[in-house]
Amino acid sequence: MKLGAERLQQVAESATLAFSERARQMAQKGINVIDLAGGDPDFTTPAHIIEAAFTAAQKGATHYVSSRGIPTFLEAIANHYAAEQGLQYDPKSEILVTSGGKMAIYLAILATIDRGDEVLIPEPAWVSYVPMVQLVDGVPVEVPLDAKNNFLLTREALEEKITPRTRALLLNSPSNPTGRVLSRQELEAAAEVALRHDLLVFSDEIYYKLLYDGHQHISIATLPGMRERTIILNGLSKTYAMTGWRVGFALAPKPIMSQMVKVQSHTITCAAAFAQYAGAAALNGSQDCVREMVEVYAQRRRLIVDGLNSLPGVRCEAPEGAFYAFPNISGTGMTSLEFCERMLEEAHVVMTPGSAFGPSGEGYVRLSFANATEKLAETVERLRKVL
Ligand code: GLU
Repeated sequence: MKLGAERLQQVAESATLAFSERARQMAQKGINVIDLAGGDPDFTTPAHIIEAAFTAAQKGATHYVSSRGIPTFLEAIANHYAAEQGLQYDPKSEILVTSGGKMAIYLAILATIDRGDEVLIPEPAWVSYVPMVQLVDGVPVEVPLDAKNNFLLTREALEEKITPRTRALLLNSPSNPTGRVLSRQELEAAAEVALRHDLLVFSDEIYYKLLYDGHQHISIATLPGMRERTIILNGLSKTYAMTGWRVGFALAPKPIMSQMVKVQSHTITCAAAFAQYAGAAALNGSQDCVREMVEVYAQRRRLIVDGLNSLPGVRCEAPEGAFYAFPNISGTGMTSLEFCERMLEEAHVVMTPGSAFGPSGEGYVRLSFANATEKLAETVERLRKVL
């Protein structure tokens, strides 16, 4: 008897989740472990958002809702993108609420990529993009970015990987894991390639509010000719400390969106109803909670970057956005996996090896600084002892 689909043989398990799981198991054994492997904000979801879900559930938001999402949340998303990026999307036909940002990405890929279609993925890139393309029998084509050039995205790097089968380009800015925020010039270069080769663009904007040192988020959909070929993917997990709520969303032109809705209607039906009311409260309410969290992330970023740079064999650039430090550890003589395994065993600090984010991530490790300040300070001291 065949016990697994062939398609899955090539798909690796999620490294971020696997390392987080190892941290969980160590903690269960009573080990004082510091888990910086996964990107999960340590803040509790702001009270007014929890309140909105609670009230909605009490008022009966405990049933199925439309596959696209509830109107108030869809409108909130449309208004939000109009105010933030000047982009207009029809809440009735061009927006979809999904069960987490990951599902938004997967649905976008599933709805548009045929067997054998190639998807360009600049790397280092988040661990699930390649597997998601493989899950639909597409072909992920990694585009190595030059670490020496701070992982700059260039037209030449993209052009080099174009073939007659190239169908889409996947962008993630601010980037997990590098923390790079794509500049207007980089986005223009990507748009030029997309237009010349008639590509779709998946634009994962999940960290769009987590920016430092005056960096600005620009959605590639705002560039001339790009709205019609871009699928914006986003969610509430990172911005509002709502990872466990599983609320994501996608914005795309109607013909693409109708395909995504079809898949959603046959799979999860709809995202959780009361969580969507929480989502509307998050987007419509005061954004002070976001500003406050970003301020704290900014302080932690300084602390962890300075701390890492004080360690022998470790070099760390300050990330421009998101909440990951991505230090180069090649000066320690260890590979990224060896470094993570050793720190896990000896320092009880859990991180994700850079190699999990693609070949260009080798020599790096990723630490999430969406964790308590004291833990980050302690991390540096624990690593110092081992090194
Ligand atoms: N996206 C987060 C991370 O990269 C959460 C875990 C995951 O979904 O991979 O750590």
